[in-house]
Amino acid sequence: MTLDRRETTDQQTLTGVRRIGMMTTVANGTSAPNKTGEPPAEPAIPQHHVETTDRDFRSLGLNAEILEVLAGIGFEHPTPIQADVIPDAIAGKDLIGLAETGSGKTAAFVLPIVQRLGRGKGVRALVVCPTREIALQTKAFLDVFRKSPLQVTSACLIGGVKIGPQFDQLRRDPDVLVVTPGRLLDHTERGTVSLRNVEELVLDEADHMLDLGFMPQVRRIVTQVPSKRHTMLFSATMPPPIERLAQRYMDDPLRIDLAPRGAASGIEHRLYLVDEKDKKSCALALLDSVPGSTLVFTKRRSDAEWLCRVLERGRHSVARIHSDRSQKHRVAALESFRAGRHRILVATNIAARGIDVQGIEHILNYDLPDTAEDYIHRAGRTARGAAEGVVSSIGTWLDKPIVRQIELALGHPLPRSEVEGVTPYREMRSLNERRRRSPLRR
Ligand code: AMP
Repeated sequence: MTLDRRETTDQQTLTGVRRIGMMTTVANGTSAPNKTGEPPAEPAIPQHHVETTDRDFRSLGLNAEILEVLAGIGFEHPTPIQADVIPDAIAGKDLIGLAETGSGKTAAFVLPIVQRLGRGKGVRALVVCPTREIALQTKAFLDVFRKSPLQVTSACLIGGVKIGPQFDQLRRDPDVLVVTPGRLLDHTERGTVSLRNVEELVLDEADHMLDLGFMPQVRRIVTQVPSKRHTMLFSATMPPPIERLAQRYMDDPLRIDLAPRGAASGIEHRLYLVDEKDKKSCALALLDSVPGSTLVFTKRRSDAEWLCRVLERGRHSVARIHSDRSQKHRVAALESFRAGRHRILVATNIAARGIDVQGIEHILNYDLPDTAEDYIHRAGRTARGAAEGVVSSIGTWLDKPIVRQIELALGHPLPRSEVEGVTPYREMRSLNERRRRSPLRR
């Protein structure tokens, strides 16, 4: 199988590039510019500045119903990735879209899927995403088509939330599933979902799924989907395991490359093992040494408060969210972090659910989470698209069991790291390991 490389230069696609203005949210076919500056109650499609081409959606081969929905939500011109992907995707060509988050890639695959769905029964399209936030954004965009004459229905199967309501969504016989890998497999193993009618498969942010250790699950999912299907894969970069995935499971895919040159993607995991008494100084040293927008997770509210007070005294710009704070304060903290007025956001695990902020460069686990799944979700908040991100975790010897679970989930060890001024905790090798290495046994 050869990959047809179609390089699309900025020159070709960005002729007449324009910047659209900022709207706040688009929900179910209506645009809702925000006059008060208040965050909307339930943002359906978060709106960000996006570069569009001077082409129009009609020229891409989209049908009248879809064009009407696009006009309703205020999408006037396609972005470069949409202009390049949509015609080939409508024609049913397997394709690899190399593009970063924020390029408009969601519409690049949702619009062709909606157009190709037809009136069959059962789940006919499956979108696999690395994180629940990305899945929810995709589901929000699909929901715009539920109320249109196309009546496309979808369900979102993501981890970290109760499974019961997902059974109800499935009973309503959705056309499209938007999923994170672990939760989908949970459903297929229980027999609550069948993938045998899937005709359209999308693997979104494949490099991010690789970083988060989801490749084995993704491969299992792909083998459960009928081999006669249309497959689209989106990724900011093509590291070898993604290249192999594409070679193995796609049919002569067309490659549409709009990723910025030299973009490196990936999450760098770092583990700082210290004594319990050194956790605080380790956190402060890390916040000083790693620049950029940082999200800190603590287990206890008291630690979140302590950290904020110390950081404020050290002239760090910091906001906080935890369950003792009112909803109004939490929204304000999130907004100021999102807008870049605060570099650091300190959050307890529960309060942090649903945080959707672009461009977080550093996740600091002041406490390790209780499950590997939570670690992966936290890590998923950084290194979106082509960006690079660092996930630093502070652990003590008591955390070794969860460290092992995280390493199993990621498929590699968490690199041990040290920060200046803090004495690292030296791990003892296990008895078995020491026996194996003992010269007496050779
Ligand atoms: P995505 O990369 O799919 O997450 O999209 C990034 C942002 O651009 C989202 O807020 C979309 O709602 C918005 N967007 C995508 N395509 C267009 C378009 N053609 N015109 C205006 N906004 C768009």
